Amino acid sequence: MTEFDIIRNYFNRLPSSRPDVRVGIGDDAAICLPPPGMETVATTDVLNAGVHFLEDVDPAALGHKSLAVNLSDLAAVGAEPAWFLLGLTLPTASPAWLEQFTRGLFALAQRYNVQLIGGDTTRGPLSIAITAIGLVPQGKGLLRAGAKPGDLIYVTGTLGDAALALDAIRGVRRFAADELALLRERLERPVPRVAEGAALRDIASSGIDVSDGLLGDLGHILEASGVGARVRLEAVPLSPTYRTHLTELGWDYALGGGDDYELCFTVPPLERETLDVLASEMKFPLTLIGEITAERALNVYDAAGRIYRAQRRGYDHFST
Ligand code: ADP
Ligand code: MG
Repeated sequence: MTEFDIIRNYFNRLPSSRPDVRVGIGDDAAICLPPPGMETVATTDVLNAGVHFLEDVDPAALGHKSLAVNLSDLAAVGAEPAWFLLGLTLPTASPAWLEQFTRGLFALAQRYNVQLIGGDTTRGPLSIAITAIGLVPQGKGLLRAGAKPGDLIYVTGTLGDAALALDAIRGVRRFAADELALLRERLERPVPRVAEGAALRDIASSGIDVSDGLLGDLGHILEASGVGARVRLEAVPLSPTYRTHLTELGWDYALGGGDDYELCFTVPPLERETLDVLASEMKFPLTLIGEITAERALNVYDAAGRIYRAQRRGYDHFST
């Protein structure tokens, strides 16, 4: 297979699914037309073999996750995903691998009506770089800055399962087969909170997606907003599997694990009721975990009111 066979056979297979794509794959660059009154929101995430995933991971799951992590960043800003570009580096051109990878990738793309509009295909150590572009009404993007003292802090879904799965794969933790399957699903097939992010942009004062661990990512909101926070340890949402083993596992997977792809956001107290109605209408799981303080510190309190010291911190590629 040549580079052009790969592009034609695997990446330029589907007809255009969006009328706003004027020129897609096949020319030197793609051309898209945002609707009037909308701003474009762009984000990139690179996934490297051996760092972000194990070389032998299911290629369909990898295709899913490569796009999902980018859609999660768009969701955090409240943007609706529209288009994406794929920078793919492959050690070899394996038809079976490409077939599976694109199956996972396009299944997620179709679910959110986001269209592949271009990319680059090269040879080298396996790496996937996706750039996703979304749309948000002008001036409505939800930022990390904007949290005010007294605002309530929420997270969607549950935290820590992906980090537990990773430790199980590494042999550090052991789980029953059915439990491990649930945990791995969270690690390998995260579901980006796209609809939730878009719904929150009119209510929330700040937001971020939890990709590097709750405390680290909440810390980014606090820093950008020039505030602090009080978090109630027992309020941090856990999956049933995690909760079953909480005594042995402790809270640190949920506080600092990473790869959760849930949203963490702040809401002014006046918007609380609107948020509750929205969450029950949209049926998305939402948990109040604490509040923003004027004092610029991030403190976690246990049920007895004592400060809890977490061991794990957010992930940093260059920390030594
Ligand atoms: P150029 O040499 O002009 O940069 P390429 O030959 O690299 O273009 O790519 C040809 C076309 O195929 C371009 O439209 C490019 O965006 C698209 N393309 C290349 N690789 C991919 C990929 N992995 N996924 C989607 N589109 C791709
Ligand atoms: Mg060119």
